[in-house]
Amino acid sequence: MYDIIIVGGGPAGLTAAIYARRANLNTLVLESTACGGQIIITPDIENYPAAMHISGLDFASRLESQANELGAKIEFEEVTSIKDDGATKIVYTDNNEYTTKTVVIATGTTARKLRLEGEDNLVGHGISYCATCDGSFYRGRTVAVNGGGNTALDDALFLSNIVEKVYLIHRRDQFRGDAEIVEKVRAKENIELVLNTQVTKLIHDDKRLTGIEITDNDGIKKELNVGCLFIAIGRIPATEAFANTITMLDGGFIDGEYCHTNIPGIFVAGDCRNKEVRQLVTATSDGAVAVHEALKYLER
Ligand code: NAP
Repeated sequence: MYDIIIVGGGPAGLTAAIYARRANLNTLVLESTACGGQIIITPDIENYPAAMHISGLDFASRLESQANELGAKIEFEEVTSIKDDGATKIVYTDNNEYTTKTVVIATGTTARKLRLEGEDNLVGHGISYCATCDGSFYRGRTVAVNGGGNTALDDALFLSNIVEKVYLIHRRDQFRGDAEIVEKVRAKENIELVLNTQVTKLIHDDKRLTGIEITDNDGIKKELNVGCLFIAIGRIPATEAFANTITMLDGGFIDGEYCHTNIPGIFVAGDCRNKEVRQLVTATSDGAVAVHEALKYLER
């Protein structure tokens, strides 16, 4: 029987593990792939207090070491569901089941898809959701980025230093991302802004993407010859596994003041929680709050 099981090894989950171990809780972190979450694809973190210019990968690896050194156990298994038996919760993974007194759901989000024909099959063959992971494969070529948030802007900037040309395609004429990053993007000669425009078709042969069809808001279609389309149109919560246990909002975010869910003893932290500001600093903050609330629950 664990005191606390944390589902997800991103910044929220690992911070929860650090706080849980410092409170001497018997702690298990269950992570489906690799620790770090979304932050590992950020080349340079510039807005985390007192950690100027650290890569997301370094940040995540330090966080994992800190949780490990404090004695958190980390297992790499995908959680498929949680059963609430009152004082005991059962956490099911693809090949195990664990009992615990409390759970923190910190599963973050996954990339939103365009849902175009061929999108899934072309991942790794001209479709990517991670510019920092895949950008170097397109050195010297022409690529496109789709989206108007900070991720798309950061991706366009990052790629502009590697590839010959970047089309940045956004469905409106105003960017959602920060003005400072928009300025940097506008200053880059090899980034062409394609505004009021959507990607409407992936052009491909049986192996890989050869181009994209774009359509502007007047319905005018055009084809762009690009080696890769980097899709950065936001993220959706990775909370499907808990749909039968926890009440969620439409779209899958979990609503929870002070990181509580509607089930006593099950808490939520990080980007999968319904909130306005999804940043590294709010993810780590949630991890601490969730454990603080879990401790109050355990004392009761
Ligand atoms: P986001 O801010 O939600 O932006 C998503 C963008 O994709 C929006 O511009 C949206 O257009 C567009 N979009 C959504 N669905 C679309 C569709 N079906 N087709 C075409 N376009 C679509 O997502 P994000 O950029 O991944 O950022 C997520 C959070 O992380 C934000 O809070 C962001 O500030 C933060 N972040 C921060 C940094 C940084 O501080 N450097 C870096 C990365 C991310 P509309 O604008 O028209 O809705």
